[in-house]
Amino acid sequence: MRLILLGPPGAGKGTQAKLLKEKYGIPQISTGDILRKAVKDQTAVGIEVQAFMQAGNLVPDELVINLIKERIKEGDCSGGFILDGFPRTQIQAAKLTETLGTMGIEIDAVVEFSVDNKALVDRLTGRWTCTECGEMFHESARKSRVDGICDHCGGALFQRDDDKRETIINRLEIYKQETQPLIKYYKQQGRLKTVEGQGDVHEVFSQVCSLIT
Ligand SMILES: [Zn+2]
Repeated sequence: MRLILLGPPGAGKGTQAKLLKEKYGIPQISTGDILRKAVKDQTAVGIEVQAFMQAGNLVPDELVINLIKERIKEGDCSGGFILDGFPRTQIQAAKLTETLGTMGIEIDAVVEFSVDNKALVDRLTGRWTCTECGEMFHESARKSRVDGICDHCGGALFQRDDDKRETIINRLEIYKQETQPLIKYYKQQGRLKTVEGQGDVHEVFSQVCSLIT
């Protein structure tokens, strides 16, 4: 089972990846992790990657794909894998298809976690953090007893930039622009499986399983 997972931040992709990993006994390949590992191990590619990161530049697709290719060659991927965080653009997807093709490998399914943007924004933006002790509260899920004041230490609550409505809306918009062509690409290949990401974790998971098997 070779899978690619797609979904905006907060769509529950991470949880589903974990469940898939357990059920099918296949590893999750996170591009963030393999990049960090290559840098840490100071492999030839890792040293190159580090130079791009230190300069504040994006790591070129070729290097990322190279690392993915090496990772897939490892024994634990013989029964399949879950690719998470890559590809993000249609160009990356086409390059990935090509590289996997040279290895005689095809992706079985691309699972897209679709979510209603408004619900996602509401869920992601309600978080408030204590300036003193770092405790977190949520406007609907976990309200502080007094608005703007920490239950534990009486410190003032503030909203981190990452938790602000405009930041989240902006991030989701970028995600949408980037992935729309990617989703179309996999749809044309007949590999796209779209799942409604909201709702009960186990219900979503059984939907995913029925779509990929
Ligand atoms: Zn506090």
